[in-house]
Amino acid sequence: MRAFKGVGGDPVFFERGQGAYLWDVDGRRYIDYVGSWGPMIVGHAHPAVVEAVQEAAARGLSFGAPTAIETEMAELIRAFVPSIEKVRMVSSGTEATMSAIRLARGYTGRDRIIKFEGCYHGSGDSLLVKAGSSALTLGVPSSPGVPAALANLTLNLEYNNLAQVAEAFARHADEIACVIVEPVAGNMNCVPPIPGFLQGLRELCTRHGALLVFDEVMTGFRVALGGAQGLYGVTPDLTTLGKVIGGGLPVGAFGGRADIMDRITPDGAIFHAGTLSGCPVAMAAGIATLRQIGKPGFFEALAAKSRTLTEGLLGAARRAGVPLSTQSVGGMFGFFFTAEPAVTRFAQVTACDIDRFRRFFHAMLDEGVYLAPSAYEAGFVSAAHSDVDLETTVQAARRAFSRL
Ligand code: PLP
Repeated sequence: MRAFKGVGGDPVFFERGQGAYLWDVDGRRYIDYVGSWGPMIVGHAHPAVVEAVQEAAARGLSFGAPTAIETEMAELIRAFVPSIEKVRMVSSGTEATMSAIRLARGYTGRDRIIKFEGCYHGSGDSLLVKAGSSALTLGVPSSPGVPAALANLTLNLEYNNLAQVAEAFARHADEIACVIVEPVAGNMNCVPPIPGFLQGLRELCTRHGALLVFDEVMTGFRVALGGAQGLYGVTPDLTTLGKVIGGGLPVGAFGGRADIMDRITPDGAIFHAGTLSGCPVAMAAGIATLRQIGKPGFFEALAAKSRTLTEGLLGAARRAGVPLSTQSVGGMFGFFFTAEPAVTRFAQVTACDIDRFRRFFHAMLDEGVYLAPSAYEAGFVSAAHSDVDLETTVQAARRAFSRL
């Protein structure tokens, strides 16, 4: 995506970010809706975050030993996300999901996992798997280098299709360690769960002794202060976090029920370690960010921005006679070039007019608006996006739609 392979043309090289804006190496300014793929929820170079990073850096970059600041981060996470009784810091979302999968397998003594097509959980081998000819029996590697034997243990099912999950459990009873899911899918554009889907996953996991893992690397502290689990009222056994909790520095975390987390070394036998886990500078950036977004009304204002933007895009598309569908949850949004009013399934996402998306992306880029350079990625608003920025974006979209 960074190479613009999904949209064609030369990628933009950025030099500077401030608030809602990015500047490229030629000094052109863009309104940014990528936000480094999610972390920049308070805007680029927020003064409180920059100051916290500078102060922490001056005290030393990393000690590879316990610090008070990582405990402070853990306590903040626990306060906002009550299902997380214990938490471990790591350095990326990928590391968080890999570690959660190992923990689920170690805890249950089972090897198979269920994931959903169109959900992305980082680049760990078990999770880089596509559906095989029959989704219920075989996962195939999405990349050379992922062993087929490992991919075979991953069942890749259809998002929002609870019947398929029930069938998989019926067929592989006592073999499934966990179901891992993006509670709002942000890696196939922006696809919310249909009513009952997450609740149904919870019931099936409980009934079959499997763990429910919410990958909230994107949705955590993005759709609501308590994440998607707070928003939809479903309690997972394990949660993975990343992006926002690093405030722009490399951070991830995984946590959940204490009895499960206690199975990790050194008290348990399931291995986990990391040289830079809990790096104090990254913790400082994350804590400064969490303090900003913990202020009353933050998420109401953020969700209103997403709505203003998506309603504006929809209105602009209608005026130009372009079929468009939009969806948003909290601070994430998506738009689809389709006549379908709601997009709930991966097949609907891939059936959208990708060519039109490409033309729209470049037209917006020319207008000074930087959207995700892929039709399969959610967009993100930040607290720094002003009403004027949103209106400027909608005006740009009017011109872009009319040229499609
Ligand atoms: N999980 C989800 C839902 C993600 O969106 C991503 C990255 O986009 C990851 C995991 C992997 O995180 P990272 O890129 O920090 O390894």
